[in-house]
This record gives sequence, structure tokens and C-alpha cells, in this order.
Amino acid sequence: MSADQTTETRQQGEPILSVENLRTAFYTDKEVIRAVDGISFDIHRGETVGIVGESGSGKSVTARSIMRLVDNPGRIENGRIMYDGEDLLDKNPKQMRAIRGGSIAMVFQDPLTSLNPVYTVGNQIKEALRLHRGMSGSKATREAIELLEAVGIPDAHRRVREYPHQFSGGMRQRAVIAMALACDPELLICDEPTTALDVTIQAQILELLEELQEERDLAIMFITHDMGVIAEIADRVNVMYAGEIVESAPVVELFESPKHPYTQGLLNSIPGQGLEEGGRLSTIEGDVPTPNEKPTYCRFAPRCPKAFAECDTVHPVQVDVGDDSTQHRASCLLYPEDLPKGEAVDVHRSRGANGGDQR
Ligand code: ADP
Ligand code: MG
Repeated sequence: MSADQTTETRQQGEPILSVENLRTAFYTDKEVIRAVDGISFDIHRGETVGIVGESGSGKSVTARSIMRLVDNPGRIENGRIMYDGEDLLDKNPKQMRAIRGGSIAMVFQDPLTSLNPVYTVGNQIKEALRLHRGMSGSKATREAIELLEAVGIPDAHRRVREYPHQFSGGMRQRAVIAMALACDPELLICDEPTTALDVTIQAQILELLEELQEERDLAIMFITHDMGVIAEIADRVNVMYAGEIVESAPVVELFESPKHPYTQGLLNSIPGQGLEEGGRLSTIEGDVPTPNEKPTYCRFAPRCPKAFAECDTVHPVQVDVGDDSTQHRASCLLYPEDLPKGEAVDVHRSRGANGGDQR
């Protein structure tokens, strides 16, 4: 998050990516897992949008849906993924290959999934340059070296000829980012890119991403389970739980004024922030449930310290919980806060029932 540019100014104009009511389900022998269950969010140019939630909440499936890389037996069942004004769900495989690694690039948790052990790092970057920018020969070599320098790899002239195993974990992730940049993407999707790295290296990679974003006006979708990382990098945050976005807000507002009990629980679990009396770190008891049925109730209710009877029978819809300028929304029957509880529940009941979110 850079202080010189507010979320409001970033959000002027059309979003570069607009995910609308996306639903992706896995059809296993046993059940249908609604891994992503009707989520919507936007990303603007130059903006970093965080997706945060515990393991199993549907973050990676969201990223893979956007890239149209959902594994079998998964299917995108509903929604639109508008990119530069066109629906990615209408693209054929060839068009998608050109977009992937072209205007949209992705960085995964484990850099070795993106690097081939038998080719030098330089040759892999050059292959990306050839495929997406038609560069070859000494021009491509020069560009590969420049990219390695841009991501802060020292001695790039020499390292361009080395193999992935000759790089440390942090340097490998830098090399993967260089490969992603080789295609000059507009949108970079990062799925837990720093989770496998130690904290010092993690901080360096986050800093690098911010620098690259500023230089290139990159839009970044940043996935993590770590609220501390979100605080460092995101402009806007979407909190995911069991396939749904349960809260969405600008980062400062989310940290200062979290509304959903799940977000409050996540923030209380950050070491050094939510110390209970006696200095013990609070955690949210239990695990994310597998979303294997339609949401006719609140999926967080079984773990929620504020749950009441209706949470088991009414599905919460997104309601505004901040002022208009922040677009702060939460899906929880406790809101709108200014209504008596019964009337607030009725808002969710009627909006959910009249097809407000098309289930
Ligand atoms: P996260 O990235 O937030 O940890 P994922 O997006 O990987 O979570 O997974 C969300 C849900 O989708 C989980 O319940 C998981 O079991 C299910 N899921 C993911 N991939 C598959 C698959 N290939 N087959 C069946 N279920 C899957
Ligand atoms: Mg994941």
C-alpha cells in the first residue's frame, strides 16, 4: 500500500478485472464441493487486491478459475470473469493460452512448479519472451538479464546461465517473478508467493512486488492466509470463508473496523495483535467446513462466537457496513447494525430469497 495514492483515486475508471457471481464446483463421487460459491470482486489498474482466508476457503480455486486452469472434476458453473471488457469464460483454449502468461501472469507458492529443472533460468525467461513478445537471440538474452536485474538478482550476467537448483528459495521466486514479467502482464496473480520463504526474504519479495507495481502500473491479486502480509501489501481486501467473500473493505478500514466475526477472529490471531488477557494468542476454534451444499445458512455460524438461532436458517447476503466511499461490505446477519436484530435478519432473508444472488 503506498500512501501517495489513495484507494479512491485508484478505483476511478473501469476495473481491469471484474469477477461477477463466480461459482466453481468439484463433482466428486461422494459430493459436489462448491469451492467458490458466488463471489464478486473488482481489481483496478495499479491496485493490489488481497484475498485472505484460512486453508480450504477457496482462494486457489478462485485464482485458477480466472486463469481457466481448474482441475478435473472441477467446473466453472456460473458467473462472468470480465477482463478488459471481455468475458474470459467465452474464450477458446487458444485464446486463453495467449492471455495466460501474456496479459495475465501467475506466481505460485512453490517456485519449482513454474521452473523446469533441466533448462537454465535464462532460457526459460527467453522462452517466455519468444512466445509472448516474439524476441529471440542476443536481444532476448539482454532482456532476460535486464529482467533478472529488475527483480533484484545480483550478478545477473552470470546467473542467467545457471539452473534453478543453483538458486536459493528467495532467488528462485525472484526468477519466477522475472519470468512472469517477461510477458509484460497487466495483471499479476500471486497465490501465496511468500508462504514458503522465511520472514526476511518474504519482506524483500513483498517490497519487490510493490516496486514493480509502481513502475509498471501492475494490477495485483494477492492470495494469502496471513493477515500480516495483507497489511503490508493490499489496498483492498476480500476475506474468503468456505467459498464465499464474507467481508470486503479497503485495507486500513478492514484493520481498524472489521465487521464480520470471522475477520475479527483472523485479526485476533495475528501474533502480537490480539493477545488475550494473560498473553495467550486467540485462535478461531475448528476448521473451515467443506462447502458441499447450497448455502441456506451462515457457513461460519458453527465457529462464530456471536451466532444466534437464525444464523442456522438464513443465508447472509452482502450489506454495506461503512460509508458509501469505502464500499465496505460484510455478509453477516448482525448487519445492518442500525436495525433491530429481527429487521436486519429480514433484510438478508428477503434479499436472499428473491434471487438477489442468483442461487
Ligand atoms: P485455499 O487455496 O483457500 O486453501 P482451495 O481453493 O485450494 O483453498 O480449495 C477450496 C476447496 O476446494 C476445498 O474444500 C478443497 O477441498 C476443494 N478442492 C480444491 N481442488 C479440488 C480438487 N481438485 N478436487 C476436489 N476438491 C477440490
Ligand atoms: Mg491455496
